[in-house]
Amino acid sequence: MKALPLDPVRLDEAGSDQVARWQAVLASIRAAETGHARAAGDIVLVAVSKTHDADTIRPIIIAGQRVFGENRVQEAQAKWPTLKAEFPGLELRLIGPLQSNKAADAVALFDVIETVDRDKIAAELAKEMQRQRRTPRLYVQVNTGLEPQKAGIAPVDTVAFVERCRTVHGLSIEGLMCIPPADENPGPHFALLRKLAREAGVGKLSMGMSGDFETAIQFGATSVRVGSAIFGARG
Ligand SMILES: *Cc1c(COP(=O)(O)O)cnc(C)c1O
Repeated sequence: MKALPLDPVRLDEAGSDQVARWQAVLASIRAAETGHARAAGDIVLVAVSKTHDADTIRPIIIAGQRVFGENRVQEAQAKWPTLKAEFPGLELRLIGPLQSNKAADAVALFDVIETVDRDKIAAELAKEMQRQRRTPRLYVQVNTGLEPQKAGIAPVDTVAFVERCRTVHGLSIEGLMCIPPADENPGPHFALLRKLAREAGVGKLSMGMSGDFETAIQFGATSVRVGSAIFGARG
């Protein structure tokens, strides 16, 4: 018998797992919106698809998910141009650290870049956005826990940096993003991000992951970045 490249039955079963988990996450988000007096549909679910291939991602696109997050430019380049061509209207967000030699590629591929955290990157993005005539929406990443291994600008420097993005680099900043330390209560970090956003005059807050997105919504998240709760544990 001729071997098929994919077993359609098994593919369907695997796909239905993702879709069921995605629906459960959406239901929790909608419940948290109601519980915290937020308008229905106010919070954007960013499905974090890093390490997962196009065949794993496709079922939840078909089910209706439109916004996705990836943390590496190169990995995203390998799978998203095809998916974007296949499904017009997808929004792709960069949520991982950005090196300045990848700024051109990031501007070309992503619709939102959430990890602007220093002047060198801001300058490089501004240059590429002009050159390519593309305007991805931008967030500043804040290292709320001051963790040395983590990207992001220090909380005390955040308001001035957002201001420099506007005045020196000519960039409009849509919001702030943070990843609280894994071993701490995230609430105070979310509260700090919200306070900084208010001081900096930006409206959007990207905060909350699989383990804490409901807490993040309580503290005012406008988008949550959820990976493993949808796609299962990463290998
Ligand atoms: C991987 C990742 C996520 C998703 O994490 P999960 O715990 O799998 O939901 C969110 N944000 C960033 C920046 C990530 O790198």
